[in-house]
Amino acid sequence: MNPVKFAFTVDDVALKDFSSVEGFLELLDFLKNQQIPGTFFVVPFNQDIPLFERPDWVAALKKALSEGHELQLHGLRHEAFEWGIPPDFIMAYEHRERERLEREREAIEGAFTVTAFKEKLAQGIAIFTRVLGYRPTGFRSPYASLHPNLFQALAECGFSYDSSLIVNPKGWRYIMKDYTPGITWNKDVLPRPWEYRPGLVEIPIMAEYAWFLKEADVEKQYQLIKEDLDKISESGGTMVPVCHVGPITGVNRAGLKVYERLLDYARQKGNVLFCTLSDCLENKTDLNGS
Ligand SMILES: [Zn+2]
Repeated sequence: MNPVKFAFTVDDVALKDFSSVEGFLELLDFLKNQQIPGTFFVVPFNQDIPLFERPDWVAALKKALSEGHELQLHGLRHEAFEWGIPPDFIMAYEHRERERLEREREAIEGAFTVTAFKEKLAQGIAIFTRVLGYRPTGFRSPYASLHPNLFQALAECGFSYDSSLIVNPKGWRYIMKDYTPGITWNKDVLPRPWEYRPGLVEIPIMAEYAWFLKEADVEKQYQLIKEDLDKISESGGTMVPVCHVGPITGVNRAGLKVYERLLDYARQKGNVLFCTLSDCLENKTDLNGS
């Protein structure tokens, strides 16, 4: 049986209020201790400040690259309707955005053109390239908001993969402290990479498991992520959890215990290959199969 590929992914890098340089460096230390690579999704613009005007962040990102991690693009300004409409299980707790959508749906949806997406991608690519010296090839949408035209724009802008579709919505229910049983994986999203359209592979996210946790939450979250890893191991596929810098570091570092336990478990279990998301693309024979 092929090994289960496991990609540790982190969102909201350099996003104000959700990500500090200290928290980011804490995650780099964690990954160094665990000896696994991470895939980090970086926000190019913070309100009106582009990444290249934030030297502390530029230095931290270059450190991550030198330690073997992958850095890719996380939208442009990290707005809810930047790349489509977020799924219901995310909109459920975004009250302000929900009200805005009710008021302005027509104008919001009217902006989802291939041309508009390509213009925003070009801005993100330009900032990213200026700061890090290469074009991003991977994309993750803020708020998991998606639109079919975005996939076309990504392909036309030379991206190799998107990683925004979500397999298990339970993680977001847990964020709302809703532990109702019976919520299942999204049947329309395969827990493995597949060629979404020619030249563009989708590598779905499994779930978020460590959002502002307290010590008392660790066991419940560990059981959820362990269950998902076990299911992937049985059915074949790729394990792509997502976490966010601020909600898992500093005073919120209880969330890292979920991963410490899971990584120990995965190593004991064996047959798990820790890799970046780009590594998941390398062996194309894995696409559409286990
Ligand atoms: Zn985000």
